[in-house]
Amino acid sequence: MTLQNPLLFKQHCYIDGKWVNALNQKTHLVNNPYDQSELGHVPMCGAAEAKQAIEAAFNAQKSWKMLTALQRSTYLRCWADLIDKHKEDLAILMTLEQGKPITEARSEIEYANSFIKWFAEEARRVYGDVIPSNKPKQHLLVLKQPIGVVAAITPWNFPAAMITRKCAPALAVGCTIVIKPAEETPFSALALAALAEQAGIPAGVFNIVTGNPSDIGAEFTHNPLVRKFSFTGSTQVGKLLMQQCASTVKKVSLELGGNAPFIVFDDADLDLAVTGLMASKFRNTGQTCICANRIFVQEAVYDAFTQKLVSAVKKLRIGNGLDESVQQGPLINEAALEKVTNHVADAIANGAASVFGGKRHEAGKLFFTPTILTDMNMSMLIAREETFGPIAPLFRFKTEEEVIAMSNETNAGLASYFYSQDIHRIWRIAEALQYGMVGVNEGIISTEVAPFGGYKESGIGREGSRYGIEDYVEIKYLCMG
Ligand code: ADP
Repeated sequence: MTLQNPLLFKQHCYIDGKWVNALNQKTHLVNNPYDQSELGHVPMCGAAEAKQAIEAAFNAQKSWKMLTALQRSTYLRCWADLIDKHKEDLAILMTLEQGKPITEARSEIEYANSFIKWFAEEARRVYGDVIPSNKPKQHLLVLKQPIGVVAAITPWNFPAAMITRKCAPALAVGCTIVIKPAEETPFSALALAALAEQAGIPAGVFNIVTGNPSDIGAEFTHNPLVRKFSFTGSTQVGKLLMQQCASTVKKVSLELGGNAPFIVFDDADLDLAVTGLMASKFRNTGQTCICANRIFVQEAVYDAFTQKLVSAVKKLRIGNGLDESVQQGPLINEAALEKVTNHVADAIANGAASVFGGKRHEAGKLFFTPTILTDMNMSMLIAREETFGPIAPLFRFKTEEEVIAMSNETNAGLASYFYSQDIHRIWRIAEALQYGMVGVNEGIISTEVAPFGGYKESGIGREGSRYGIEDYVEIKYLCMG
């Protein structure tokens, strides 16, 4: 591994300011999804280490919450400066363990850091309220206080940003945090911890525990010292963890699966729509919860759009993410490859045509060729489930009513996209889509300044933006007689 600063490659957990092994000394191996080579080992911790980390976070919070907002902001800013300084190393680590192209890894580090910078600023604006009282001798006030210890579980698709989007608002308001990163991508998380340590963030404020998901998850969700639980991952695991949190009535934030519609109306700028779709669909090899999953194209432009899309997809360069020119990396693991393969097979068995790709790619064991399917219908698996891979399925539609109904025909409600140049249609569609986020003539919508989150089974709460603070504070009402 060619890091400028090899000290960022950590193979221990970070608990209470110390780099530690699992109590039973067990570890688990992390492989590079590009060629399955061994990258390193991390501790295989369980409930006992999670409990230690929670207790450390609980003790650390006593003094962390007493700092001024400006002091906490300064710590965050210092951490952000170090992340900027070590951006290249962090990007290399991410590509090695996750497989995404290095250009995307660099962008993710910038995106991840944008949350730390944003919440370093927001830390100083956690305002309360004064409420006009009904009684002359009473004063009514609202204070916002840090909720306490936060526990978080994060996924492998954005190994850095999903951590900072949770820990930055938590630390900003005076909470402390314990995080379990995904087993596929612990090294990005541990490198962030190394820089938090270097930034002088006090011991116990930011903790990383790697290891057994269900054991650590059980401790996170049942331990009464944890007052807030935040999860990004699959809907299935999110539901389970939400249920577990009921035992101690924790405040819960969930960012779960999506099934994004991407609608191209007959009045759309087709070139713009293709550019937007390429970014939305193929970023991270299709492994994002806001990737276009069902592409609805109005019949008058269906063939023209398909042709333009085929030309764009043909140009994608596939291979080792460390190669600067590569745009598509491997899928994360065998299960991901199997899901993509099944979705394509199911569509074809039910009448779809593969006009490009449709098979594995020779770049390596976990590669799938970017694929375009036409003649899709709503009975196919892809219509109901998130594919999480580089498959662009094209559905044909006739009317606005029809496409709104098809778009909303899902339990998910995270991101949606549509392309039109008619202002009346734009408002009608934007209001009718049952989604937490709507890209209008835009395929890349995530930013630290706007609220990220979903309707329906896509989750609870919002991350980023001024709304993102709310998930980490309690509201306290004072009635002064
Ligand atoms: P994916 O299928 O995309 O990997 P998951 O929801 O399985 O999505 O994983 C997201 C995160 O949830 C990962 O950090 C993973 O380790 C964790 N996880 C998976 N199963 C459990 C569980 N039973 N309890 C707690 N965490 C879990």
